[in-house]
Amino acid sequence: LIDIVNITKSFGENVVLDELNLYIRENEFLTLLGPSGCGKTTLLRILGGFETPNSGDIIFDGKNINNLPPNKRQLNTVFQKYALFSHMSIAENIAFGLKIKGKTKGYIQDKIHYALKLVNLEGYEDRTPDSLSGGQQQRIAIARAIVNEPKVLLLDEPLGALDLKLRQDMQYELIRLKNELGITFVYVTHDQEEALTMSDTIVVMNQGYIQQIGTPEDIYNEPQNAFVADFIGDSN
Ligand code: ATP
Repeated sequence: LIDIVNITKSFGENVVLDELNLYIRENEFLTLLGPSGCGKTTLLRILGGFETPNSGDIIFDGKNINNLPPNKRQLNTVFQKYALFSHMSIAENIAFGLKIKGKTKGYIQDKIHYALKLVNLEGYEDRTPDSLSGGQQQRIAIARAIVNEPKVLLLDEPLGALDLKLRQDMQYELIRLKNELGITFVYVTHDQEEALTMSDTIVVMNQGYIQQIGTPEDIYNEPQNAFVADFIGDSN
C-alpha cells in the first residue's frame, strides 16, 4: 500500500534517516520500534506530510504523494499528546474535520454516533475533554481520526501516557479496530513488549537505519544482529 523509497532526512548536520526503504502492506499493523532519537517520529511525520524529506519518495497506492499536504493524504495521524480542542464538546471535536469538508448535519451525527460506539464511549457527546481521563481522551482522538475514513492510521506513542491496565485495554481495542475496519496501522513505540504484542510486522530502527524487519516471532527468536538482540532483551 505504501512504498517508502530512499528517504533521507537531516536537520542541519544531523542525518536522522539515511536512504531508508520500507514497504507497508494493506491492513497490516506495522510498528516502528527503536530507542529514543532513532528517527521513528520523523518517519511518521514524513508519511503524514508534516515533514518534508531531503530526498526520496512516498508512494501511496501507486501514486507519489510527496507534494500532497496532510489533509489530502488518505492517512490520519494521532499524536502522543491527543490535542483535543478543550473549548469544544466531544461531539464537536469529532465533527471538526467533517464540518470543514462540508458534510451534512445528518451525516455528521451518524458518524459521531458510530465512532463513539467503536471506541466504547457512547453517550459522551456533550462532555468536555477535561472531564475525561487520559485514556478516554486518547480514544476520542482515535474516534476523531476514524470518522474521516482514512486508509491508514499513523499513531505516535498513543498509549505512552497511560497506566499499565489502560494501556493493555487500549492495545486490545486498537487491534480490534484494525480487524473491524480493515485499516492499515503504522505505530510508533519504544516499548518492546507493546510491539511484540500488537504487531503483524516490526521494524527495528536505530540511528536512522532499519536494523531488522520481521514478525514478532522473527524478531524475538532470530534477531539479526547484536543491536536487535540487546534491544529486544533476548534471553537466548
Ligand atoms: P522519540 O521516541 O524520543 O520521539 P524518535 O525515534 O521518534 O525518538 P525523532 O523524534 O524522529 O526520534 O528524532 C530523531 C532525531 O531528529 C533526534 O536527534 C532529534 O533531535 C532530531 N529532530 C527531530 N525533529 C527535529 C527538528 N524539527 N529540528 C531539529 N532536529 C530534529
